[in-house]
Amino acid sequence: MIFWACLECLVAFLIALFIGTLVEYLVHRAMHAGKFLHKKHAKHHQANHAQGWLGEFKDYFLPGLVIIWVGFLYSIGAGIGFAVGCFVYASLAAYSHQLQHENPDLVFWLPRPVHHLHHHGKMWHHNFGILVDFWDRVFGTYKKVDYEPKKKRGDYKLSSYFKIRWF
Ligand SMILES: [Zn+2]
Ligand SMILES: [Zn+2]
Repeated sequence: MIFWACLECLVAFLIALFIGTLVEYLVHRAMHAGKFLHKKHAKHHQANHAQGWLGEFKDYFLPGLVIIWVGFLYSIGAGIGFAVGCFVYASLAAYSHQLQHENPDLVFWLPRPVHHLHHHGKMWHHNFGILVDFWDRVFGTYKKVDYEPKKKRGDYKLSSYFKIRWF
């Protein structure tokens, strides 16, 4: 009984991360196709800086409230897993966006910091992923661009990962 509840919780958590990254990709791509928040996004490209982790988190998390409850239609375990997954996804996406604007050298979970390159190369058709580059690879919009880090990752202190603008 407990085992199944935990399994449902874990699967729902992973589904939330999967959906979160897919929605992130599709919405960002739609923005560049002029379908959604086009002007706001064009301004973001001009300014080329992020709003601080909390502001970013709100942008990812608040739209997610529309579906955050959906796992409870299946079971309590799935409901908790999905809701936590939405929260964790929004937290990580906000961090990834902020970090790629402030210090892309530190994006250790990707071969290259795709969102930084998306801005830096003024890309309107490539590298829409922010937390992951998986969907760019699936949909053929991944663009390999040489990225020269300012410093080697090993030369950064662990504390550098926390030195982003949080608020
Ligand atoms: Zn963009
Ligand atoms: Zn950005």
